[in-house]
Amino acid sequence: MQLMSNPRILLKDKRARPFFGMHPWVYAGAIAAVEGEPKDGDVVDLMSHVGAFVARGLYNSQSKIRVRLYAWDEQQPLDADFFRRQLASAIRLRRDILKLPGACRLVFSEADGLSGLVVEQFERWLVVQFTSLALALRREIFADLLTELLHPNGIYLRTERGIGQLEGLELQDGPLRGDAPGLLTMEENGLRFHVNLTEGQKTGYYLDQRDNRQAVARLAVGRRMLDAFCYSGGFSLHAARAGATSVLAVDSSEPALQLARANAELNGLTNVTFEKSDVFDQLDRLVAAGERFGVIVLDPPKFARSKSAVEEAMRGYRRLLVQALKALESDGILVMCCCSGLIERQMLHDLLALEASQVRRPLQILESRGAAPDHPMSAMCPETNYLKCVICRVG
Ligand code: SAH
Repeated sequence: MQLMSNPRILLKDKRARPFFGMHPWVYAGAIAAVEGEPKDGDVVDLMSHVGAFVARGLYNSQSKIRVRLYAWDEQQPLDADFFRRQLASAIRLRRDILKLPGACRLVFSEADGLSGLVVEQFERWLVVQFTSLALALRREIFADLLTELLHPNGIYLRTERGIGQLEGLELQDGPLRGDAPGLLTMEENGLRFHVNLTEGQKTGYYLDQRDNRQAVARLAVGRRMLDAFCYSGGFSLHAARAGATSVLAVDSSEPALQLARANAELNGLTNVTFEKSDVFDQLDRLVAAGERFGVIVLDPPKFARSKSAVEEAMRGYRRLLVQALKALESDGILVMCCCSGLIERQMLHDLLALEASQVRRPLQILESRGAAPDHPMSAMCPETNYLKCVICRVG
């Protein structure tokens, strides 16, 4: 009986509650004892301190998240059939329930009951990212299952920065199945975007901002916009098409700007200017020159990757905000985005209130948005609620 023989992870007294509540991360500090000798990546059973079955997961002695949980039914093995069902359920959400037509995130890790796996689809290609050792060790199984369920032209593996160290994971970017196109073209909200699956940032494109780009574009009509941290031009192009008078798009990465310029051209949009600069310096220069904008989008990269980095990250947001408030005309629209899960929404709202009150400008939050719904939030795992996009009117 395979199920009877799984090594057992015994929780400390009073530590079982989050896991009965289906939170999937068991940190080392919650564990009293390990019975049996699980190897990294093995299936283990999580038991309460009195020996009751709690959930089944995968073990990694090299990660602070010692066990990631996947099944709460004692009869459920963590085999290919199980992972096929989890994948199929994730795909059903995007295709049958949300009815997303094109590029989207098909699997979002904990939010889809697959802690450690992200899958995105661009045209006929899939990009996968493994953020857990145990699922990475099963990458051939996942490649087979994704092929069976979706018949893609190719599956390309991208690795996330810093993950090797967190998980003890050695992975290289490269094709898992089929070929990888250098550059492909996909559609978002009726605009066309070049995406580079192998060289682009992250998985090639930031799909999570899809709906936020539309929401901001509506407010940019007839206004001059600054798109700070523009990457391949997502916000800029949406605003330019909607009728912004002009857009200044800034990024420090030349490859990003090359993509962004090509994307503007692809859509026949001529009222966007791209500039290679550090946003902090550029904002200082714009303020010094007395430039004004009707809309300012701030969409920086993840500033806080660990708890100890939160304070420094908040200082970064503060600097951006102080300068943006100076460059924003009266009745201007400020869009403050933050993709660090460790920085909570209320912290951003509080920062907005503080900095706007310092300069005696009323600030109204029109919408405090999250990621598009193909990046759902698991109610059981609040950490999946990572993206904030706060749209404000500044008097
Ligand atoms: N708004 C984009 C996504 C931004 S991702 C979209 O809608 O797709 C963050 C971007 O910030 C990256 O393109 C990165 O190159 C850029 N970046 C990081 N630090 C920067 C800095 N100090 N100044 C300018 N750009 C920076």
